[in-house]
Formats: sequence, C-alpha cells, structure tokens
Amino acid sequence: MALIDFTLLIMKNKNFINKTDVQKIDWEKIQLEMKNKFGKDIFESWLKKLNFSGEFNNYILLTVSTRFLRDWITSRYLDQILKLVKLHKSEVTRIEISILENSMEDKAGFKKENNDKLHKNNVSFIKDFFFQYNRIDPNKNFDNFVLGSSNKLAFEASKKVAESSSHYNPLYIYGGVGMGKTHLLNSIGLKLKEINKVMFISAERFMYQFVKSIKSNEMVKFKEYFRNADIFLIDDIQFMNGKEAMQEEFFHTFNALLDKGSKVIVSADRPPNKLNKIQERIKSRFSGGLVIDIQQPDYELRYKIIKIKTEELEKYYANQLNISEEIQKFICTEVKNSIRELVGALNRIVSFSRVYNKTPSLSETKVVLKDLLNLSENKVTIDIIQSLVCKFFKISKNEMLSSRRSRYLVRPRQTAIYLTKILTSKSLPEIGREFSNRDHTTVIHSIKTIENLKKNDAELSSNIDTLKNQILYNNSNEI
Ligand code: ADP
Ligand code: MG
Repeated sequence: MALIDFTLLIMKNKNFINKTDVQKIDWEKIQLEMKNKFGKDIFESWLKKLNFSGEFNNYILLTVSTRFLRDWITSRYLDQILKLVKLHKSEVTRIEISILENSMEDKAGFKKENNDKLHKNNVSFIKDFFFQYNRIDPNKNFDNFVLGSSNKLAFEASKKVAESSSHYNPLYIYGGVGMGKTHLLNSIGLKLKEINKVMFISAERFMYQFVKSIKSNEMVKFKEYFRNADIFLIDDIQFMNGKEAMQEEFFHTFNALLDKGSKVIVSADRPPNKLNKIQERIKSRFSGGLVIDIQQPDYELRYKIIKIKTEELEKYYANQLNISEEIQKFICTEVKNSIRELVGALNRIVSFSRVYNKTPSLSETKVVLKDLLNLSENKVTIDIIQSLVCKFFKISKNEMLSSRRSRYLVRPRQTAIYLTKILTSKSLPEIGREFSNRDHTTVIHSIKTIENLKKNDAELSSNIDTLKNQILYNNSNEI
C-alpha cells in the first residue's frame, strides 16, 4: 500500500498551494461554476451580483450593493460558494461580503456628487469595513453542537443568553484549544443577530482594529461602532495579556456596554484569575458574571461526535464512503485532546479513502494519524527499526549491518532503510551512517527499490505494513 505516496501527495499539495498563492483567483471561472451549480435563475437573480473585490491569504472579499443581497446570499449560498472557491485555492477559509453602494463604483464622478452623498458613502464604507470582522458562521449553531458532560453547562448557559433568559452578565466561557468555545459564541451570535445588533470579534481583531483606528484618526467611529452593540461577543480574550492600551479601551467599551444593558460574552483559554498581565479591574468584572469551563471531551462525547460527523460525511459523499466502526472507535480512543483534532482525524481518514478509493485498514489509519496519536516520532528510533526488521526476517543485526550482499540480507536491509525513511525524520546521509556508513546514494537506491517492489509484490507490501505497525505500536519492552 502506497502510504508514502499519500504523505508525498500531501507534501506535493502543499507545494502546489504555495504556488497558487501567487496566482489570482479567476472570478469569471468561479462565476461560471456557480451558474452550473446553482442554475441560471439563481445565478442571474443573486449570485451574479457578487463583485470580486480582493484576495488575501486565507479569505476573499466580495461586495454587493445592498444589505439584503448580502444576507440572502450569505444564508443560502455562501458555504457552497466557499467550497467552489476552495477547489481553486484550498487555503481560503472564508469569504467576506461587504456592502458597497453603487455610487462608490464611479469614483470619478465623486466631485459632481453633493456633499451629503459623499458623506453617506464614506460612513457606510467605514461601517462595512468594521463589519468584515463580524463573521458569524451559519454552520456553527446550537443544533449541531454535540452535548456531553464536559460541555453541557457551557452549552446551557450560552443557550440562556441566546434566549435572553440569563441574568448573568458577562458570560465567561473558558477551556483548552479546540473544545468548542468559538462554536458556542458563534451560535449565540447566530441566534441573536436576527433582532439584535451583534458584534462578534476575536480579541486579536479587536486589537488590530483599535490600532488601525488610532492611526487613521477614527477612534470616535471605533468607539461608536463597538459601543453600539446589543450583544458583544469577544473570543480568546487571553490575547489582551500585557497589552495595556487595548485593555484600557476594552474596559471602557465593556463598561459602556454593561451600562446600557448589552450582553457581553467572553471566551478564553483559562479562568479569569489565571489571566496574566490583565488589569485586576477587568478580571474582577469577568469574575462577577457567570464563569463556566468546557473540559476535555470524554469517550462518550467523542464517540457521539465521530458518529454524527461520519454520518454527515457519508451523506455528503453520497454513500461512497465507508469508515468502519473499528476505525471510528479507534479514533475516539486515541484522539483525546480536542474536538478539533478529533474531527480533523476523521477528515484525514476521509481524504485517504478518497485518494485511494478504499477504506483504510487499521494499520493504515495508524500511519495516517501518526502525529495525532501521541506516538511521537522520536520514540521510533533506528535501533528499534533495525531490531524489529531483523527479528522479522530472522537475521542478526551484525548480518544486517555487514557489507555482505546475499539476497537474504539485501532485502531486509533495504526494508529497514526504507522504513527508517518513512517513519523517522532522519536525512539520507544520517540514515546511511546508521547503516554502517553507507553512501546516501545507496540509501536512495534502497528506498526506490522497495517502493517499486511494493507495487507488484503483495507479500512484500504486506510485510512492510506488518512491520510498520510493529514499529509504531509495539511496546519497546517486547523487543
Ligand atoms: P475553540 O474555540 O474552543 O478552540 P472551536 O469552537 O473552534 O474550539 O471548535 C473546534 C472545532 O470543533 C470546530 O469545528 C467546532 O465546530 C467543533 N466542535 C467543537 N465542539 C463541538 C461540539 N460539542 N459539537 C460539534 N462540534 C464541535
Ligand atoms: Mg476558538
């Protein structure tokens, strides 16, 4: 099985992505694809009105002429448009749509326009500029937040805020990376944005906007904009650590919001009292609300999530995907740290299945997920590889490392060299040194030989899989 090819493929893809970085997105082509995908009517009525405005590292900026158009397209088509765009540039993770009134297009005619209109355009432009930061993802909502004992309280508290039946203000949710904090904040925003002015921003972007507004002398607008919110959701507040000016501004924004009865929801990676270098008065304000943590997911929750996500993916790929129960359980048992990693592991298995058009075996799964499985590479030493390969082929280590070229020694030697290459990060010369100072060209030759043989020699291929498995999973005591 060409597992290396899979790794190479990922690496190649990475290169490919870097190259496309320079390339510009061909919006006309994407428009054509949208037309094919959604049909002429939908395209003509809505999607054609999207104008391409700019391309950034991981997002693209589009503009439309009215708020209605933006909301309509966002709620109905944006996730699918994103998928189309991703096919052209896979690092695009979001699409932002801002409202740019038509008259902005004929900038040349600016002088002719009266001051009133100019002023209006200007204001709306700035507003929309801020709005770009108000990204609420329609796919992260309360309905698809899977519940378990570790996140139930945080979920219920968030739901209460969203139903306006909570008396606590602020709500402070904390927990490690990938536990679902952003998902919950997003869900609150999504629910409330229909009838409230919702501001959802990460502390990092708040800071960025703050600095930018100072530089461009727009602090008045900055203050107005943020203090105008009915619901203020701020994500990853630990980012404020040590940033005094920002804390000052945040504190005033925060007080102004609480004074006018707005709800504030904060997330962080740690409890308020553990926030370093953050003003005491801010911490004590946080502690004065409801503080709730999300803990690491237990097995039951992990299993529930994997089941649901697998079903979704199977449906998405029209039942052409088949992730066995064994593999699902394996992922849940092994990937414990965060829900993001858990879902990431499943996605990797899915891309494996799609690349090779087959369900991965358990040993392939182990290799594909190697870095997520706490089986860090440095536990795999050349010594372990050599010992296990020798044991497998019933030769001695001296024989393997000797310069003898008998066939019964050459294959095991090449196999061990090959396995060292794919299972460790050793360079070719380093590998050569560990095999009795062989030249790196010999190392390359060995790797190529095994790669070629594997294609047609089922027995060799299966031996390699068995060995890989032993190397990655066998307890070193057993050697
Ligand atoms: P955090 O902000 O705590 O780092 P996120 O909210 O970004 O974590 O969650 C990471 C990923 O896991 C997201 O894709 C999110 O939708 C998903 N996720 C987290 N918790 C759950 C859950 N309980 N149910 C469903 N998906 C979840
Ligand atoms: Mg987050």
